[in-house]
Amino acid sequence: TLVASQARSDAIEADIGVNPGKYRILTGDRPTGKLHIGHYFGSISNRVRLQNLGVPSMLVVADYQVIYDRDGVGDLQDNVMSGMADYLACGIDPARTTIFTHSSVPALNQLLLPFLSLITVPELNRNPTVKDEMEHSGGRPMSGLMLTFPVHQAADILFCKANLVPVGKDQLPHIEVTRLIARRFDERYGRATPDQPVFPEPDALLSAAPSILGLDGTKMSKSRHNTIQIGMTADETAKLIKKAKTDADRHITYDPQNRPEVSNLVMLTALATGEKPEDVAARIGDGGGGALKKACTEAINEMFAPIRARRLELEADQGYLRQVLHEGNARANEIADATLRDVLAAMNMDY
Ligand code: ATP
Ligand code: MG
Repeated sequence: TLVASQARSDAIEADIGVNPGKYRILTGDRPTGKLHIGHYFGSISNRVRLQNLGVPSMLVVADYQVIYDRDGVGDLQDNVMSGMADYLACGIDPARTTIFTHSSVPALNQLLLPFLSLITVPELNRNPTVKDEMEHSGGRPMSGLMLTFPVHQAADILFCKANLVPVGKDQLPHIEVTRLIARRFDERYGRATPDQPVFPEPDALLSAAPSILGLDGTKMSKSRHNTIQIGMTADETAKLIKKAKTDADRHITYDPQNRPEVSNLVMLTALATGEKPEDVAARIGDGGGGALKKACTEAINEMFAPIRARRLELEADQGYLRQVLHEGNARANEIADATLRDVLAAMNMDY
């Protein structure tokens, strides 16, 4: 059904520019660290594109999901505020995208109770994304919160009746859980009105974005300390790229299968300049890893210079960032309260 999901996603992508108002998008990030250029190229730039097409968008800062695999909250509040500066600097517009934190929206979290009744433990145990997260947990016993986090994600998507969720292929099982819960809610507890289910079944919008590798050649990831943060300075960026892993072949080619580290630097350069990766590789040719790193550093620093300048201004105005978050939380609470009323009415709990 990957083929079917892809076809459906392509059809929606073609329609979205024509009928942006038909859709509502939910995306989000866990504030487990500072956002990096993998986030920018992998998801933030796409969110900005969709928002600018006119699609109403919700962006959850998933603070409650930080604790599903950690013993504490870490630099939670720092990460949240840093992420706010990143989002706005990258072009997320709070007038068009509602940014909110999980923990500030009680009615969203209350949806977990009825939703948990609609899924079985064997179904949760089978979820491939949960299995994958487990593999990266270094043998840490799984918390109940991690086991049920696809259900929490369903609450994120359904509380605002989002019908479109931009994801990578690996995230399709989550969307399937959400569709299952929407359908079962309808079958078991009822409808908003006789001809209208309480929840839409959301579609995945499959992203073609490449997975960006970190400077050690494994996936760029907050928790692996191999990232170039959006908010780093040009000097910090240059120092990190200088240390990036490459290989022994001086002739630069774009060959992600056989030369992942070199190809990742080529791809980053291409993403930053708008060139094709093959053209970047040809341009550098026999210049070797040194020339590639120089080109990559210049391209990244040039592309992110205006974003970083805006970001510094935003970070200097914490009051404004907090106000944006408070306004987003207020809007999310209105939406969540209305949805919870529908849910309780459908369940005959509207006393
Ligand atoms: P953690 O280490 O806490 O898992 P992370 O850096 O992997 O953090 P996530 O919060 O797991 O980031 O990722 C959020 C979303 O950002 C992903 O679903 C994906 O769309 C995008 N993303 C993250 N890392 C990359 C990357 N290296 N390349 C492309 N996209 C990425
Ligand atoms: Mg991750």
